[in-house]
Amino acid sequence: MPTVGTSSYAVRLDSVSKEYRSGKNAVRALDAVTAGFPRGTFTAIMGPSGSGKSTFLNCAAGLDRPTSGRVVLGDTELSSRSETELTELRRDRIGFVFQAYNLLGSLNVEENVTLPLRLAERRIDRAFLRQVLTAVSLGEHLKRRPSELSGGQQQRVAVARALINHPDVVVADEPTGALDSRSSRQVLELLRQIVDDMGQTVLMVTHDPVAASYADSVVFLADGKLAGELTRPTPEQVAARVTHLGE
Ligand code: ADP
Repeated sequence: MPTVGTSSYAVRLDSVSKEYRSGKNAVRALDAVTAGFPRGTFTAIMGPSGSGKSTFLNCAAGLDRPTSGRVVLGDTELSSRSETELTELRRDRIGFVFQAYNLLGSLNVEENVTLPLRLAERRIDRAFLRQVLTAVSLGEHLKRRPSELSGGQQQRVAVARALINHPDVVVADEPTGALDSRSSRQVLELLRQIVDDMGQTVLMVTHDPVAASYADSVVFLADGKLAGELTRPTPEQVAARVTHLGE
């Protein structure tokens, strides 16, 4: 694949706009957004409902194509990729964590975690698998199915699955939205740990100021535009800013 030079950014968006058409009306979900996420950083994305958070995450992860502008994953520019190339790129270079875990109920923990490798027909590195399962504290539960795990444990399986391909970026859409506060804390500590100990890059959409405070910085969106950033955020600072944005 052609590249655009080496980059210290895991992913960057360059003047990205996205319009959706519904009937005669066009909705501008993202409006000329430029943002870069250096490798080894944890960023939270916040904003009122409808401000463009999901669209932002979907464009960054190659799930959605911008109407204009560029998205660059590592050294790879995404807009000129075919659908097949984007599918492979998502599978091989992006880790996904969703609010609803999205595990396969018929597979056990180990099979769920290694699924991306099997889909990519890559060899399973047993040592790395063990490291990942230990990091998510699931080394004892390899043969359990998702229905035999708590919500927090299932989300930790999803994080392990997201890591197994050494992705350029892990994108997490409301990863604690369905969890109680104790399980949420464990998942957030885990996301923090994969950044600090494994050098991963995490982008996380959240509504929760406490969740956002685990990140290195928070990017705020309003009406599809960037509306500020906080570095080393405290929950109180985040909550004050969110209130100001009208959430
Ligand atoms: P958020 O995640 O912050 O709630 P979204 O990115 O989901 O915001 O949506 C931003 C705007 O784009 C909203 O006005 C939403 O209604 C619109 N939108 C999102 N996805 C679509 C779609 N597939 N078709 C039409 N409009 C959409």
